[in-house]
Amino acid sequence: MKFKELGLDNRLMKNLDHYSFKNATEIQQQAIPVALAGKDLLASSKTGSGKTLAFVLPMLHKALKSKAFSAKDPRGVILAPTRELARQVYGELRTMLGGLSYTATLIVGGENFNDQVKALRKYPRFIVATPGRLADHLEHRSLFLDGLDTLVLDEADRMLDLGFAPELMRIHKLAKHRRRQTLMFSATLDHAEVHDMAMEMLNAPKRISIESGNAHHTDIDQKFYLCDHLDHKEALLHRIIADADYNQIMIFTATRSDTERLTVELNKLNLKAVALSGGLTQTQRNTIMSQFERTVFKILVTTDIASRGIDIANVSHVINFDMPKHTEEYVHRVGRTGRAGNKGMALSLVGPKDWDSFKRVESFLQQDLTFDVLEGLKGKFKGIKPKKPAFRGKANKTNKKPTAAKKVAKKPVKRDKTFHTNVAVGDAVFIPKKKTPPKIDD
Ligand code: ADP
Ligand code: MG
Repeated sequence: MKFKELGLDNRLMKNLDHYSFKNATEIQQQAIPVALAGKDLLASSKTGSGKTLAFVLPMLHKALKSKAFSAKDPRGVILAPTRELARQVYGELRTMLGGLSYTATLIVGGENFNDQVKALRKYPRFIVATPGRLADHLEHRSLFLDGLDTLVLDEADRMLDLGFAPELMRIHKLAKHRRRQTLMFSATLDHAEVHDMAMEMLNAPKRISIESGNAHHTDIDQKFYLCDHLDHKEALLHRIIADADYNQIMIFTATRSDTERLTVELNKLNLKAVALSGGLTQTQRNTIMSQFERTVFKILVTTDIASRGIDIANVSHVINFDMPKHTEEYVHRVGRTGRAGNKGMALSLVGPKDWDSFKRVESFLQQDLTFDVLEGLKGKFKGIKPKKPAFRGKANKTNKKPTAAKKVAKKPVKRDKTFHTNVAVGDAVFIPKKKTPPKIDD
């Protein structure tokens, strides 16, 4: 379907000429008409499928076609979990605002608060923000949302993972009026917490799910390698990079300190790497992202702050140096490549410490994942066999059910009849997930 069949305002159609594509992606074809009809939306589609325009276009169309509720309050607010993603979405919004008289501003953490207050006093019509800083401005009364037309939550599930639920609720309550439209997007929205938030914030939403987040992404070739220890991981990493025919690579590590350490190692090999983590100042973070985008660096070594939404066409390879703690982040990390119909490679290193995460990813993807071996770098680690009975040992620390199971296993007479259906290994329902907010690397 061509964009012109969607009935969008001509001024937006003109701005779409900035892009080389003429056909709408499937999520755009399905979400845009529903949003234009004024309905709330809970929409998911795979990474790199054009969700940004699927919410930016109807938001702007609506503003162009209707009268503002208020002369001062923003008409549209887009929330994103990280500053980098907010900045990128802001860029896309600016492109679509070309030639229109609307103003827009970016409100993210790490930037000067008073400068933002000054920008807000100019009453921008559209705001792209991270939820924490936007909530601060609401508290400070530098911003009011009584006249908001459209609220967009991009990567809604990640904002919850990062512990932003209270800020989201505050924003929702301060922008709560009958005619507000709310659009929620992500590649992974099947989580119970997202559902609860959606029930609270959305008004009779239409659910659009093009392909669920765990569906196989045919444009991304995914490989896994077993590793014994850190040195083995590094040897594999160096070999993978040496053998890869790559444009740009994103490497994900579990910790900020590893981003630095690996970057130093890679630069010793003249590989033009740079580290990005939440430990840097915002100015440093902005510079690094912009340099990576301009291919000043070939390799970005980062944490999950860059797992969501970042769209850099040259990223041909994603390497998980460590497996992610949150299962969904696997889908998002590997989704930094294979975007907009391009092909990509995703390679993951799985050591003993990654094993539990790997098994969770395997069950999330509902696939039997196999391991590749690089010549001369075969290790000894072959995975950890599940103990019998299941759920003994350490795993019990983070999950209550297994503790119960352990007790039950010792006293079979008192066995909970629902136990097997609830926690059987491989049961898709059993994806342990930390409820408490992790350390925010934003
Ligand atoms: P998502 O949010 O689904 O991960 P993005 O909105 O970041 O995806 O878009 C991914 C890439 O696809 C961007 O570079 C964007 O410019 C491009 N894109 C968007 N819409 C289309 C389209 N209709 N056809 C081709 N490419 C598109
Ligand atoms: Mg996106």
